[in-house]
Amino acid sequence: MRSYSLIAPAKINLYLEILGDRADGYHELAMILQSVELADQVNIRAIGTQTIQVHCDHPQVPLDKTNLAYRAVELMSQEFPDCWAQFGGVEISIQKNIPVAAGLAGGSTNAAAVLVGLDMLWQLGLTQPELQELAAKLGSDVPFCLAGGTAIATGRGEELDPLPSLDSFYVVLAKHQNLAVSTAWAYQSYRSQFSNTYGRSEGVDKSITTEMINPPTRVHSGSMVQAILNKNVAKIGQLLYNDLEQVVLPNYPQVLQLRQAFENCGALGTMMSGSGPTVFALCQSQEQAQALLQHVQSEIPDPNLGFWVTKFASHGIQIVS
Ligand code: ATP
Repeated sequence: MRSYSLIAPAKINLYLEILGDRADGYHELAMILQSVELADQVNIRAIGTQTIQVHCDHPQVPLDKTNLAYRAVELMSQEFPDCWAQFGGVEISIQKNIPVAAGLAGGSTNAAAVLVGLDMLWQLGLTQPELQELAAKLGSDVPFCLAGGTAIATGRGEELDPLPSLDSFYVVLAKHQNLAVSTAWAYQSYRSQFSNTYGRSEGVDKSITTEMINPPTRVHSGSMVQAILNKNVAKIGQLLYNDLEQVVLPNYPQVLQLRQAFENCGALGTMMSGSGPTVFALCQSQEQAQALLQHVQSEIPDPNLGFWVTKFASHGIQIVS
């Protein structure tokens, strides 16, 4: 039986602005997403029986239909019933290195890897736009995870415009291992507290045309885009932004404490990723990243606080073998 092994990188949000409510119940977003080298390994294998089996070495990851990798196989079997009939079922084994429920798109990147793996296993020869369309059906972050690198993401997060890759940054990630923030809770809380301010942001750069209930006139991710185009490292660090911090930081004092600890120890910039609770800091070298990690670790001596040092990545899903 044929099998493939894929690398599925995590992402961080360099910028996350909530622009308004959409008619489909989601939020209209303006984000800048960045892949990092911290990645899961996803192995995919054809098995004789018409079943979907998911294995994972992390106890918090579900192995049933609620696993996004499982849903990716299900979607592909519905889209390509002849392949499902011809090649049989699939076994997915996930080696989990990305912290779970962390705002790092761990589930989404696993799902993206499954799409690429099945494309090869079933010899479909799908184009990148075809894979992106399937990815968008699985979740807003899945198309980005597929392509990776650095990109502007609009709409629900599934409409991508690639940016030139930034390979010079090191990243320190920190997360309280026993802390999880529900993405749905974060967005709903933001809506109930801040929907009256949608579209009133200052700054002027990019028009939004997508159908929205309460469209804003402009968004201001453009300064960050400009900094990225100029590869202005210091400016990128200063312009990190995440609207969801406004609801997560007041409700999760541990995340606030982490944010403050990173802010006070000389990083180029620091921000919560996605809906948290992971906080990241940008550094110019591995040495600076290690020094920063040690500094924050000594400031918050909590054995449950996990740290990872990684680097910006210019790729999404990669095939190892
Ligand atoms: P995002 O940034 O896309 O919102 P996240 O990084 O916050 O995602 P995940 O690691 O994807 O969060 O996990 C969110 C929840 O999804 C977990 O609580 C877990 O139960 C579930 N889940 C489903 N499939 C997976 C998967 N393959 N890997 C990790 N978690 C998964």
